[in-house]
Amino acid sequence: MPELPEAQTIATQLDRCLRGAALGRVVLRLRKIVRGNGSPLGRVLAGRRVVRVTRRGKRVLVHLDPPGTLLFRLGMTGQIIVVSPDCPRDRHVHLRISLDGGRRELRFRDVRRFGGVWFTDGPATGAVDGLADLGPEPLTLTRRQFDRLMTRRRQIKALLLDQHAIAGLGNIYCDESLFAAGIHPLTWACDLDAAQRLALLRAIRRTLRGAIRAGGSTLRDYRTATGQEGQFQTQHRVYGREGHPCPVCGTPVRRIPAAGRSTHFCPLCQPPKNHKPPKTATEYNPRRRPPQANQPCEPARRCPGGTTRDQPSPSVLDPAPGTGRRNQSRAAPARGQGMAWPSPKPVTRLVPARRPPPSPPVAADLRVGRRPHNAHHRPLYRRSGRHLPHEPPPFEIS
Ligand SMILES: [Zn+2]
Repeated sequence: MPELPEAQTIATQLDRCLRGAALGRVVLRLRKIVRGNGSPLGRVLAGRRVVRVTRRGKRVLVHLDPPGTLLFRLGMTGQIIVVSPDCPRDRHVHLRISLDGGRRELRFRDVRRFGGVWFTDGPATGAVDGLADLGPEPLTLTRRQFDRLMTRRRQIKALLLDQHAIAGLGNIYCDESLFAAGIHPLTWACDLDAAQRLALLRAIRRTLRGAIRAGGSTLRDYRTATGQEGQFQTQHRVYGREGHPCPVCGTPVRRIPAAGRSTHFCPLCQPPKNHKPPKTATEYNPRRRPPQANQPCEPARRCPGGTTRDQPSPSVLDPAPGTGRRNQSRAAPARGQGMAWPSPKPVTRLVPARRPPPSPPVAADLRVGRRPHNAHHRPLYRRSGRHLPHEPPPFEIS
């Protein structure tokens, strides 16, 4: 699917070859690709000239004079190609616009038909193809904007794919950027520290600029405006390389679903940080936190000896005086320190942590088989097979 580098490559090439070109005859083979208010393109485009071609997110905008904008959304397999009218065409070319009196032709080809064309008089406003809802551009995003974005309580892969958060990033460049930054794709955005946020922003920019220099990534359908294939797919380090060794550490690249997409990452270079949603301050309960290795157990009253998980627990019935955390806090001050702590209360008996009572000795010899629907009045049968003579034998012991 064309992403920011692919759309930027097409926009740059179209801007170079279309500036000043006069639009002529329009041939529309598939009516439904013209979205928006349904303006008849043949009538509104005739006589206009191309002023410049730009990009916004994954969209290509052709600015016209007299004022008007032709917006292309590439969708999954969209292509915009400038060729000679004699160039052979197939059934997936849905729109042809004659240029410069028929000497060239602008073609929009879309195999899967998820793309579309919008036309608006004047500059493209936010109402056209949801332009107003797009997030900021990642190549011009400030660090402050990015830090504010990373405070959201979402997984980082899903956040980067969200066009309302950042415009232009897709599956390929999300995976490559997260790998370059060493961030696991399931990490929560608000769990990233300042160093990770900066590394990720720099990785995104570096990845996108490298991809633009290479003309984008051609995995299947993408072509530049001149019909060439992109070359960045040869520089992919994790995307589409499941099972291949990581170029940094040699660990096989893994593929997992994340944000509804196939996500490629290196399990060693991108260690998981925290896959559970972080709790807010009000939800945080330290008593529920499992004790860490070599850390005193919490709460103290469950482990009066202040033991660690790696040490065998001493006898809680007869601990050494002053070893419990509570006892330590109440211990008498050393001589000469002059503290006014009260004298410690004598500890007569410490009760071990309460354990659940053993399960009752049932169900071992009284497993009941399935009973017929009309036998609810009959007594339960024992597995031993003993039964009263006037009753039927047990049945169907499960
Ligand atoms: Zn690795």
